[in-house]
Amino acid sequence: MLNNRTYLGHCVNGKRTVLSFKNKRVVRKAEDEWIVVENVFPPLVTEQLWNDAHERLKTRKHESTTGFVNLFAGLLKCDHCGKGLGLSNTKDHSNYYVCNTYKKKGPTKCTSHYLPYDDLYGLVLTEVQRALVAVKANREAFIQSVQAKLNAGDESRRKALEMERDELAARVADLSKKYRQLYDDRYKGILSDRMFMELFAECESERISAEERLEAVQQTLTEQEETREGVELFADIAEQYDDITELDREILNRLIAKIVVGDRIRENGRSTQKVTVYYNFIGNL
Ligand SMILES: [Zn+2]
Repeated sequence: MLNNRTYLGHCVNGKRTVLSFKNKRVVRKAEDEWIVVENVFPPLVTEQLWNDAHERLKTRKHESTTGFVNLFAGLLKCDHCGKGLGLSNTKDHSNYYVCNTYKKKGPTKCTSHYLPYDDLYGLVLTEVQRALVAVKANREAFIQSVQAKLNAGDESRRKALEMERDELAARVADLSKKYRQLYDDRYKGILSDRMFMELFAECESERISAEERLEAVQQTLTEQEETREGVELFADIAEQYDDITELDREILNRLIAKIVVGDRIRENGRSTQKVTVYYNFIGNL
């Protein structure tokens, strides 16, 4: 979604390729191999706007008959069954969420995951404030720490991958030259048919494995770059907000991808419940 150029008016083809005859696994091609035809369609929206609108559609605002706004509609996910949580209210009008599977199919299919609306609101507000403060305090430090977490913090690994990519690219180029040499030698009668076939097969299998590895290395590197872009984008959005004191749909849609709700566990007379906020582009902090 983040890099879907079609929405920016470009037409992207050839993004995926099949590795080889035997290995039908589809891998993503390196970005510089994509066939991008620019400005095929007029750019309709910026990526960010499109993303925001898309998220908004996914989590449509729900207003109950009492006028109560279900702020978290579409954002909550049950940690056990993966379905959403729906809003219910007690007779005294206090609102709470429960797992939709539990609500519709009963306790044999999932547990209630009972979560009072006000508890959730307080928790998410605190979480969002914490994230915004972290970005505001030191944007670069925030980006680096999130990126380090997402990439398992490995700058040396990136350098090693870049080096391997360059070596593999040189190897593939060498092998192409070797092909030409083989044809030349065969043509000049230096090689017998049998020798030619043997050397050709050897060359071919080496080229295939070098290219496969090159694809994989390039893909890993591209993913790391995308991670950086995603974290930057999150920081850009976060910086648009001053200290917030309340939540609204816009803030939630722009910052949060989903909120995963665990069940309420009662132990030694104390209830605990794990609620995890996953932010857009960066996951949970
Ligand atoms: Zn459930």
